[in-house]
Amino acid sequence: MDTERKIAYFTMEIGLEAALPTYSGGLGVLAGDTIRSAADMKVPMVAVTLLHRKGYFFQQLDPSGWQTEEPVKWSVDDFMRAESQKTSVQIEDRKIWIQAWRYEVKGISGYTVPVYFLDTDLSDNAEQDRTLSHYLYGGDQYYRLQQEIVLGMGGIRILQALGYQNIDRFHLNEGHAGLLTLALIDQKMEEYKVDSITPKVLDAVRKQCVFTTHTPVESGHDKFPMDMVRRALGNHAAWNMPEVFCCGGQLNMTYVALNLSHYINGVAKKHGEISRHMFAPYVIDAITNGVHVGTWVSKPFRDLYDHYFPGWREDNFSLRYALNIPAEQIWQAHLQAKMKLIEFVNRRYNTGMDFDIFTLGFARRAAGYKRADLLFHDLERLKSISKKAGAIQVVYSGKAHPKDQGGKELIQRIFQAQQQLKPQVKVIYISNYDMALARLIAAGVDVWLNTPKPPLEASGTSGMKAALNGVPSLSILDGWWIEGCIENVTGWAIGDDQLEEGQERHDARDAQALYQKLEEVVIPKFYNQRDRFLNIMLHAIALNGSFFNTQRMMQQYVLKAYFS
Ligand SMILES: *Cc1c(COP(=O)(O)O)cnc(C)c1O
Repeated sequence: MDTERKIAYFTMEIGLEAALPTYSGGLGVLAGDTIRSAADMKVPMVAVTLLHRKGYFFQQLDPSGWQTEEPVKWSVDDFMRAESQKTSVQIEDRKIWIQAWRYEVKGISGYTVPVYFLDTDLSDNAEQDRTLSHYLYGGDQYYRLQQEIVLGMGGIRILQALGYQNIDRFHLNEGHAGLLTLALIDQKMEEYKVDSITPKVLDAVRKQCVFTTHTPVESGHDKFPMDMVRRALGNHAAWNMPEVFCCGGQLNMTYVALNLSHYINGVAKKHGEISRHMFAPYVIDAITNGVHVGTWVSKPFRDLYDHYFPGWREDNFSLRYALNIPAEQIWQAHLQAKMKLIEFVNRRYNTGMDFDIFTLGFARRAAGYKRADLLFHDLERLKSISKKAGAIQVVYSGKAHPKDQGGKELIQRIFQAQQQLKPQVKVIYISNYDMALARLIAAGVDVWLNTPKPPLEASGTSGMKAALNGVPSLSILDGWWIEGCIENVTGWAIGDDQLEEGQERHDARDAQALYQKLEEVVIPKFYNQRDRFLNIMLHAIALNGSFFNTQRMMQQYVLKAYFS
């Protein structure tokens, strides 16, 4: 019986290691970074997620840039061990058995946070139910609903089966785990010996739940028709409480989580604001995301930090003292990280990328709103900048969701631009983006590019990984960059965020702003004012690395959500 653990963190995806394919993007990587910092800080936590035996997917790109997907082959036993306890959930008239696999995240002082991966691929289960723990974000809507039943309701029950008796906070990392509230309601009804959902029951559940919403993008908010929910879960007293559970004939997981949590937050200041508008009148706070410093600092910078401020892993605020590191040493460390990336790219793709050339990086999910192709809005202009201001090369990477036709076409457009820009501007798209590539690319380029369509980038975290390695961002003012950008000090903004009333955001306008900033400010600094450029690298570490990390973020969750 583990009575020490107080907080259970529920997440549909989690990025623990590059080779453990149970994440698709920023949400999962954030979950992994959160748990790593919890372990470092000895926060008494456990985490619950689904196993995803076939992973998200392995990305293949054909010569035209068209993406196809293959299941990831990986061996569960290589990473985790099975627990003997089992639990079950009822879907339709079937009992679905669930087993948990335990993975341990070890913090800097040896304290561990267990992560439980729920598995339904057991011989006792019907064939169709065995597949529920196969694919992350795969299948149809009914498949997703059933996965969420396993994650939310199964997750609560497995924690009990495993002996966690004193959990008093359940953190919903996005709405996917919203159905855990239903399992908690059932328990409270039993505890209070009532046969209806009384206000006391709801209050008790609310007191235990914390909800973090992660995106203003509509498709990021799961909704299921009530017919479908009834088919899966039968009649439940909860369905008679439309004010809590069903909005307009649908089970909306975001509203379930909003209604049944006592603390709700968005993932950056601006995103908190946007969420308050989207979900008025709910009270929604903001805790800006971060990244786990020990995970995302490349070897050359680790060595520098160890030398100049040992103890930085225990106390991330130490990164503030990066200003004391001689600029020349920062440059040498950066060159090592850059060399590693350029050699990797040249070896794998035979592109002849040049070590001395100004290198832009762009790597993240290929989702439409992230506008990976904004840089290619006007190819002639880009070529001319490369000729006049200084040579440019660009490294791309990222997966599109298998059903996102637009995202797949976006990757193809980058392949087309690659052909059209030859030989002046070299562009490379590295296939099968994962955490290992994120580490390599974010540390190895000279400037990190980000061009989302505001206000859709709730936070973004890849720019924070770059900052830890002294790589400044050149980004649209959205998400975390509104907080992190000090112009010409920590990096550069593309355009400004103050649009006149009624003024639309246009790609053309944003692309012009991007070209102008590149041509007049960023590239000249890189080639002709290296000392100024280095000063910005130092401030990216000192001002942004020291703040936009999950150690600071975890402190805020502890303060505002977990022990309050
Ligand atoms: C950090 C990371 C992301 C998040 O990137 P954003 O630019 O914040 O969207 C996505 N995928 C992987 C593999 C990452 O490591």
